[in-house]
Amino acid sequence: MSTILVVEDNAGNQELLRVLLEMAGHVVRCAETADDGIALARELRPDLILMDMHLPGMDGYEATRIIKKDADLKRIPVIAVTAISDRHDEEILSACGCDGFIAKPIDTRQVAADIAAVLERSGARNKT
Ligand code: MN
Repeated sequence: MSTILVVEDNAGNQELLRVLLEMAGHVVRCAETADDGIALARELRPDLILMDMHLPGMDGYEATRIIKKDADLKRIPVIAVTAISDRHDEEILSACGCDGFIAKPIDTRQVAADIAAVLERSGARNKT
């Protein structure tokens, strides 16, 4: 069981991710803005952050850069949740520090397995 922070402003996507992750046995907390997401990350120290790239105000790219520059937060894997149109987008995600991405529209059958693989790689599963 891991604690996962979902930063997503779209209520439908946020609820979908919450349900899928809770079904997989994770503890899920949600934020709707980058500022709230960063504050919750500092408070919760989650095992994983799912980051929508398109947020009102500060976007997910900038939020990820801030997280990856923060000595206390940078080890937390950040997975972008985004529509990927081409290879160039993946390079942008990786340049701002994302550890992977989940494509929108979200594949409900695939997302728990993708997240389990990331947690496995980061060793977070053994921590909690
Ligand atoms: Mn959004």
